[in-house]
Amino acid sequence: MNQVPTVKLNNGTLMPQLGFGVWQVPDAEAEQTVSTALEAGYRSIDTAAVYGNEAGTGKAVAASGVARGELFVTTKLWNGPRRTWNRDAVLRAFDDSLGKLGLDYVDLYLIHWPRPMRDDFVSIWKTFEEIAASGRAKAVGVSNFRPADLERLAGASPLVPAVNQIELHPLFPQAELRALHAERGIATEAWSPLGQGKELLTLPAVAEIAAKHGRSAAQVVLRWHLQHGNIVIPKSVTPARIRENLDVFGFELDAADVAALDALGAGAAGRRIGPDPAVFDV
Ligand code: NAD
Repeated sequence: MNQVPTVKLNNGTLMPQLGFGVWQVPDAEAEQTVSTALEAGYRSIDTAAVYGNEAGTGKAVAASGVARGELFVTTKLWNGPRRTWNRDAVLRAFDDSLGKLGLDYVDLYLIHWPRPMRDDFVSIWKTFEEIAASGRAKAVGVSNFRPADLERLAGASPLVPAVNQIELHPLFPQAELRALHAERGIATEAWSPLGQGKELLTLPAVAEIAAKHGRSAAQVVLRWHLQHGNIVIPKSVTPARIRENLDVFGFELDAADVAALDALGAGAAGRRIGPDPAVFDV
């Protein structure tokens, strides 16, 4: 039984609040890993052109027997290896992703990074408007956009991103972006929701809450996200953990637990794990 709630995106599309991320899963292993996730009950998969595993992901989707309408597939434009992303280049990259996935539409297509130093995300977004209008992406959005990037887009396009997928976890809570998203009707999607399984999952404050509920540290962190309204896409290649990360709908954190986890990120503006979008380029 799939107990995952959905979030209604700003164009009416329904997106599962918990999905499966496949960054760093090699293409040759993606079919097996994604199949395990689909068998466990995940219905949303987050891939990207640059992950190099759209083909393996697509094979798992095709083999799953799950109706396409019950699945939510996200991929992302890797707006890196070319200096200028004109309309043709974006459309070709999108077609390439659909081809590798073996799909005739994706549920969500994202601009992977703003790369503000290139000054081209507004023109890329214009082509995303076309892709959205064609129905070949049910929704379009962005990833790693900063408040200033969102403001810039808002000034140039009537199409509000459905989602901004950003690094977000208790050690890097992104309060400013979350508030802006809420104001603009942009759904907040957390990447590296478990802090990549590093320091965050070993903290005594997390362990204490986990022991109190008889749950794992990862499950407690995922509940923190869900109760804050974030969309999450935890990644694992270990079948038991894949199932564990989905089994988070049978308990609830209380206000004190949430406050204790919120406190981990207080004043922690520098606790990013991944790259800073202000300077990230390839
Ligand atoms: P994550 O926070 O999901 O952590 C994954 C790691 O945590 C695993 O590799 C494993 O080591 C550990 N882990 C997973 N489940 C566990 C459990 N139950 N118990 C203990 N340890 C566990 O990190 P992530 O993979 O970086 O992020 C999730 C997804 O977000 C990615 O797969 C990708 O789809 C997406 N992402 C997007 C961007 C972007 O720029 N848009 C960047 C990074 C990640």
